[in-house]
Amino acid sequence: VTATIAHWNEALERRLRDALPARALLAGQAERISYGFDNSSYRGLPDAVALPEDEAQVQAIVQACRASRCPITARGRGTNTTGASVATGGGLVLSFERMNRLIELDAAARVAVVEPGLLNGELQTAAAREGLFWPPDPTSAPYSSIGGNLACNAGGPRTVKYGACRENTLGLAAIAGSGERLRAGGPYTKLASGYDLTRLLVGSEGTLALITRAELRLLPKPPGLAALRALYRDVGAAAQAVARLMRQPVVPCALEFMDGECLALARSRGGADLPEAGALLMIEVDGEFEALDAATLALERAAQGEGLIAIERASDAAQREALWSARRALSPALRSVAPGKINEDVVVPVMRLPELVTRLKALSQRFDLPILCFGHAGNGNLHVNLLYHPEVPAEVQRTQACLDAVFDLVLELGGMPSGEHGIGLAKRELLQRALEPETLAIMRRIKLALDPEGILNPGKLLLG
Ligand SMILES: Cc1cc2nc3c(=O)[nH]c(=O)nc-3n(C[C@H](O)[C@H](O)[C@H](O)COP(=O)(O)OP(=O)(O)OC[C@H]3O[C@@H](n4cnc5c(N)ncnc54)[C@H](O)[C@@H]3O)c2cc1C
Repeated sequence: VTATIAHWNEALERRLRDALPARALLAGQAERISYGFDNSSYRGLPDAVALPEDEAQVQAIVQACRASRCPITARGRGTNTTGASVATGGGLVLSFERMNRLIELDAAARVAVVEPGLLNGELQTAAAREGLFWPPDPTSAPYSSIGGNLACNAGGPRTVKYGACRENTLGLAAIAGSGERLRAGGPYTKLASGYDLTRLLVGSEGTLALITRAELRLLPKPPGLAALRALYRDVGAAAQAVARLMRQPVVPCALEFMDGECLALARSRGGADLPEAGALLMIEVDGEFEALDAATLALERAAQGEGLIAIERASDAAQREALWSARRALSPALRSVAPGKINEDVVVPVMRLPELVTRLKALSQRFDLPILCFGHAGNGNLHVNLLYHPEVPAEVQRTQACLDAVFDLVLELGGMPSGEHGIGLAKRELLQRALEPETLAIMRRIKLALDPEGILNPGKLLLG
């Protein structure tokens, strides 16, 4: 745990207390520790925690911190996996937990206006009452905030058909690191009026501006849903099927992949009734009831091909749910293979997926390390898990070398280090490797324009 108090001073604390309601600035040791971690292994003790209740208070905080050059780390619910909401350099954690109102849900216009602290799951519940949904569906939806979702461009299984946060955010209000208020986009589904600052801020991990309000695109919930389970001889055959599925006109609303080892874990730990196979695809399609049979048939045909062992429709919702709960149990179950786990969430162009999965298996053999893969195959987004024993130095070294080879492979295939979890602290070196120097330089200049003193989430996303 580290704390830098160079920029924290009594004058700043007084100014913040004046700008905030009573009990909205926490400076006790226990409170600071409670906000000193997220779902990564990074830790950092902030000097204080601010709990603003509206945008004016957020702006006052940013202006005061800018004057004192005090770092601000925005926080939704701390569920990110990359250290993105940990204040490693001290300063202020600004938690949006009290800005959690659903301001408006206009069912006719299919737009929700929300404060950033609203939980994704709370929005989904409200939207469902109107027969609508907001597409971004991270597994963490019941306990992650919309602000955090937007800042990480979060997504889930539905992304393959409906897109992640970027594709489903119409407009934003935010306070830039300069202390200025910024209004981007609006409640329109068509817009050609200036730079698209909405897409810039979505995925910027709290490094450019603090999102204080968002206008989100809602969609009508399709009445019907059908699910297929396809088993393959090996990962290559399953990945080839993914390429075929994505090439034909019926877009599945989920296309998830598990390799044979994950399948075995899902069977033993997740309790799903699954036969042995080299790989599995979970394929779902939604739509009007009348169109569902034809759509399912089209997907079933595309899933067929060299290496298919069996394909079957889920007989009911319970069978489908059993498979999803086994899929959700995978991540924690991996620790039963080996105590050390490096979980990367790489993304490659979807047509390169067959090459990625086949060559990952070759790397697993070459480095004599288990590499277990599952994930959102329809987006080319794979969770690649390297499992090892941290207490064995030779294995740690091999894991590091294997990880380097994994990223060489991803870059060779035209991929990127993260498809959904973001960069934070954990993947800055990889981003540096993945992007061209000119592109990185432009990113740095954008950061400087919005946050001239570099107070917003310093040290995250970009190196140096
Ligand atoms: C069990 C589990 C399952 C998960 N499954 C998925 C998944 O399926 N898909 C997926 O994409 N992710 C997943 N995640 C990762 C995580 O839930 C997401 O990244 C989520 O979007 C983070 O939201 P949060 O509210 O917890 O934000 P935090 O973790 O608190 O913050 C994340 C980032 O957002 C910034 N931030 C927060 N609020 C604001 C704001 N108002 N303005 C500007 N910046 C802000 C923070 O500074 C930080 O950079 C999962 C995590 C867990 C623990």
